[in-house]
Amino acid sequence: MTGEVEATMRDHLLRDDGQEDVLIATYARSTGNERTTALIKSVIFPREGERHVHGNASFTSGYVLRASTQARALGHGVVLLHSHPRGRGWQQLSNMDKETESEYERVARGITKMPLLGMTLGGRDISWSARFWFDRSGPTWAESVRSVSPKLAVTWNDELRRIPRVTRSQQRTVSSWGERTQASISRLRVLVVGSGSVGLDVAQRLAATGLATVGVMDYDAVETVNLDRMIGATRLDAALGRSKVKVAARLMKSSATAESFQVRLHELSITDPVGLSAALDYDVIFSCVDGPWPRAVLNAIAYADLIPVIDGGIALDTFPDGRMRNGIWRAHTLVPGSPCMVCLGQLVMGDISLDKGGLLDDPEYIAGAHRDAPSRQNVAALSASVSGALLAQFVSLTAHPGGRGIPAPLRYILSTHSLEHSSAKSGLHCPYENATASGDARTPIAEHREDWRTVVHERATKRSPFRLRALAAAEDFLQHTASRIIPVAPRG
Ligand SMILES: [Zn+2]
Repeated sequence: MTGEVEATMRDHLLRDDGQEDVLIATYARSTGNERTTALIKSVIFPREGERHVHGNASFTSGYVLRASTQARALGHGVVLLHSHPRGRGWQQLSNMDKETESEYERVARGITKMPLLGMTLGGRDISWSARFWFDRSGPTWAESVRSVSPKLAVTWNDELRRIPRVTRSQQRTVSSWGERTQASISRLRVLVVGSGSVGLDVAQRLAATGLATVGVMDYDAVETVNLDRMIGATRLDAALGRSKVKVAARLMKSSATAESFQVRLHELSITDPVGLSAALDYDVIFSCVDGPWPRAVLNAIAYADLIPVIDGGIALDTFPDGRMRNGIWRAHTLVPGSPCMVCLGQLVMGDISLDKGGLLDDPEYIAGAHRDAPSRQNVAALSASVSGALLAQFVSLTAHPGGRGIPAPLRYILSTHSLEHSSAKSGLHCPYENATASGDARTPIAEHREDWRTVVHERATKRSPFRLRALAAAEDFLQHTASRIIPVAPRG
């Protein structure tokens, strides 16, 4: 849910007189490969006499019927909410709660053809719990409830996603923001899209922070021209033409500090429906790609599927004689309530279709349209500033230093070393932001394509010279054995 919807529901459910209350809302689905997320759409307040508040609050069937009919008209499902004013942490269901939800699940499912969602708010520490009712027999518990705003707030179901144990290598991390924040950050599933100079660095630092699950998505291979920026990639990687995600996995595994670290590799394109649905399994996404089309897909997901997207980039500028003129790097986080890439002027709508048509890589088109070719300049000494700026956004989003969330979009000017806050506002008719929480009903922007599939297929079937393969096997063996002999040390 958005922070705005969360605040509206919280205001209603937590009463001044300390009694329980009930509320109904509607939801839309966002379907990933492994995860289904219910996105809270609209709140339907009770009318006079539609609920009873008497210590244990209850719905009337009239209220549930009216809300279900309204939800069906919108193509949404129904959410029944109630509060436990003195509850703390992930709330379980009392027998009476269970009876109520199982009684109404058939009504809601019958009318909307979507499973009922039940939610409870614990009033002591503002923690939410949620469960789907696929049939009458019992609830299927959610793994987490996320409230997405400049401050990301997650309530975790500790039984389904256990708190990772703090390890000895994480002591200084934990002493910086406390065990509670570490317990939340380390459970987030974070995806890094684009595993080049910036993405590779971000991915390694997430692993070192102690995150238990990090995904990387890229379909490209390491080439010799990448070696001036992809720190940790080797000449052997380039000679073998190794995929960037495999190189990222190796480096992340060696920098990971979690007791059991899981890296998920996606040799996919985010512009394809398979890449899009893989991305919908994650809680936070780093956008480390530079093409307009992939960035447009991420721009859409941030709002439509309520997954915060941390985006940025660098542009270097040279004088005609080749000397350096300036450099600018940017960092911004896309969440409801903050302007999207288009409103920020960081994504030009017209470029998306040019990129889809392959025209932005076509020198003839570029010359004919009197455009500048996309700038590919970057230097290792500065790409760390970009990854640093993105990671600082991540810390603000998840650890809320000083009680604050993400800042206004940032722009760093190299020649003067000044940092500017952008005052860009969301456009009134922004199609991306107006599609907030639309989930699977989002405007289709990903397309099935063969080009990137061919790249992945050719790499998988290519055979390198024997001596390179032998070296690669020896390297794998060493890393594997080292991690077995020297395991991650638990906190002493
Ligand atoms: Zn916008």
